[in-house]
Amino acid sequence: MSSLDIRSMTQETLGEWLKENGQPAFRAKQIREWLDAGVTDFLQMTNLPKDLRATLAAEFTIPGVTILRKLTSAIDGTVKYLFRLDDGETVESVLMQYKHGWSQCLSTQVGCKMGCTFCATGIGGFIRNLSAAEMMAQIETAQKDAGVRVSSVVLMGMGEPLDNYDNVVQFLRMLGQEGGVHIGMRHISLSTCGVVPGIYRLMKEQIPLTLSISLHAPNDEIRSRTMPVNRRWPIDELLTACREYIEATGRRISFEYAMINGFNDSDAHAEELADRLQGVLCHVNLIPVNAVAGKAQQRSSRLRIQNFMKVLEKRGINVTVRRTLGADINASCGQLRRQADQQDEGKEALP
Ligand code: SAH
Ligand code: SF4
Repeated sequence: MSSLDIRSMTQETLGEWLKENGQPAFRAKQIREWLDAGVTDFLQMTNLPKDLRATLAAEFTIPGVTILRKLTSAIDGTVKYLFRLDDGETVESVLMQYKHGWSQCLSTQVGCKMGCTFCATGIGGFIRNLSAAEMMAQIETAQKDAGVRVSSVVLMGMGEPLDNYDNVVQFLRMLGQEGGVHIGMRHISLSTCGVVPGIYRLMKEQIPLTLSISLHAPNDEIRSRTMPVNRRWPIDELLTACREYIEATGRRISFEYAMINGFNDSDAHAEELADRLQGVLCHVNLIPVNAVAGKAQQRSSRLRIQNFMKVLEKRGINVTVRRTLGADINASCGQLRRQADQQDEGKEALP
C-alpha cells in the first residue's frame, strides 16, 4: 500500500528520492508546483514522464481534504467548512473577511485532549493529529472553493496546536516557503490553552508569529474549573513562560478571555486579571463566550463586557472585544462536526 505523504516531504528529500530513481533534480520543482496548485492526482502532472507518474502514484499519497458541508453567513460572508479527511474523519475551518483581506481559522487535530468545559471540540475527546499536509490542504481547498487568496492564518480551529507540535511547526515552515500558499509568519497566530513545555520549545524556533494564550480566568481556582490543563501548568507557571517568550522573541502576547456570565466577568475579576498581567507586554482580547449545546454557559452582557474592559483600560492594559463574525452560522469551531456526528448516528440535529 502506498503511504508516504509527498506533501510533507521537504524539497531535499524529494530530490534525493528522484535521484535514486534516475530522475533529474528539476522534477522536484515540477512536482512541487503541481502540489502547490492543489493537484491531488499524480496522473494529472502532465509535464512528468508517464512512467514516473505511475511510480509516484504507487509510492506516495497526496493527502487532501474534501468539502463535506459549507455554511455561508448572510450577515458578513464568513464561510464555515466541514472538511473530510482521507480516512473519513472530519474537521472544521472558517474563512473570514477583514479589511486587510481573508483570514482562515484552521484545525490542527481531530478532537482535542484538553477537555475545556466550555468548548464543543473538547466534548468528543481526542481522535488524531493532523499532518502538516492536511493543514495546508485546508487552505488550498478553501482558496479554490471561495476564489479568494488567504492572507492570514489563525491556528484556532479544532485541537491544541502545541499538542501536535512537530506537525504544526513543519506546517509553519512550509507556509513560509516561497511559491504556492506562501504566508509570512507575521500573519500567523497560534492559540494555545497553555501547554507550557510547548511555549518554551516554540520560543527557540525563531518563528515570528503571534502567540495567543487562552487564559479565560484571573486565578487558578476559576481556571481549573473550566480548563483541566491548568492543574498541570497553573497560571504562575504559564505567565512565567509567557514573560520568557516575550523576552526571547520581543513579541507581544495576546491573551484570550472568554466572558462567561456570572463566572469570570466581574469588576473584581478584571482587577485581579490586571494585577496578574501588570508589566507583561500583552494585549487582552475579550470574547463573548459562544453557547454550546448541552452546556449552561451564557455570554456576559454587552454592558458587563464594556465595564470589564474599562477596568483593564484604567489599569493600562491594552484590550479589545472580539468582533463576532458568522453569528448566524455558529462560526466557532467544534459545533458543525458534532452536529454531523449526531446526524450520522441518527440522533436529532442540534439547533
Ligand atoms: N486549543 C487552542 C486553540 C483552539 S480553541 C486553545 O484552546 O487556545 C480556539 C479558541 O476558542 C480558544 O481561545 C478557546 O478557548 C476558544 N473557545 C473554545 N470554546 C469557546 C466557546 N464556546 N466560546 C468562545 N470561545 C471558545
Ligand atoms: Fe482543546 Fe482549545 Fe477546545 Fe480547550 S479550547 S478543548 S484546548 S480546542
